[in-house]
Amino acid sequence: MKLKNQIAIITGSSSGIGKSVAECMAAAGAKVVINYPFEKGKAEAQQILDGIKSKGGEGIICQCDVSQEDQVIAMFESTIKTFGTVDILVNNAGIQVDSPFENMTLKQWNAVVNVNLTGQFLCAREAIKEFLRRGVDAEKSCAAGKIIHMSSVHQVIPWAGHANYATSKGGIDLLMQTIAQEFAGRKIRVNSICPGAIQTPINKDAWSTKEALDSLLTLIPYNRIGQPEDIGKAAVWLASDESDYVTGASLFVDGGMTLFPGFRTNG
Ligand code: NAD
Repeated sequence: MKLKNQIAIITGSSSGIGKSVAECMAAAGAKVVINYPFEKGKAEAQQILDGIKSKGGEGIICQCDVSQEDQVIAMFESTIKTFGTVDILVNNAGIQVDSPFENMTLKQWNAVVNVNLTGQFLCAREAIKEFLRRGVDAEKSCAAGKIIHMSSVHQVIPWAGHANYATSKGGIDLLMQTIAQEFAGRKIRVNSICPGAIQTPINKDAWSTKEALDSLLTLIPYNRIGQPEDIGKAAVWLASDESDYVTGASLFVDGGMTLFPGFRTNG
């Protein structure tokens, strides 16, 4: 029970990576907030919470579009009202809206930057306010609070046709490092997880046919597509005191995708 009694908000947790992070954190003893953006995601969020409760876990569901400041503030208020505080934020919500660069509209650009980058800023700011108010609760953790940003291998790998997405992930890297630097002295730890190719709805085109999957695997030295649990387990470790000396770090969970596999001459 590495996260016993800690309160964790996981944004965008009604599917994919966020769902697995919520399930893994609940299994580690955290009380989880399952966030979904729009009314139509409510049933999925409730189903995930029901599954967590059936295994003895605790949590609530919370509708919030992370790109909307008033909704983010309301999500933190209702979490604090229900559980008394917040100990862990997993800034996971993210979208892709792809387009060749010359045709990318401002709407497509803003849609991605508003959710992937501004959303992470808004949630991190509200989390930091609560961490500063509460300080260290030694019964729960060595740190006064933990933030995990869900970035991507595309914070370092340029990605043609996805300028808005890659830019948002590059931005997350310096947002994460800057907050980590600003608050390390106040015992707040801030890190990123950079997933490679994980089998979720966001990248269905990359794995749903054999051809697509074979082509994807040429980019992954470890020769398998990642599963949401690969990220869920890493998130539990980064949120726990086992990683107490880690802050300002990007943890690449990518089967070696960032190892320039195109340069392999054998093996
Ligand atoms: P996903 O589509 O299953 O999950 C994205 C989640 O974000 C969904 O639950 C969605 O409802 C939520 N969301 C979208 N807009 C939102 C908003 N405005 N407010 C709140 N929630 C919102 O895909 P995923 O792969 O699980 O993606 C999760 C995160 O992991 C994203 O940040 C993504 O960029 C990142 N990531 C995924 C991969 C991958 O290969 N799957 C790789 C690198 C990074």
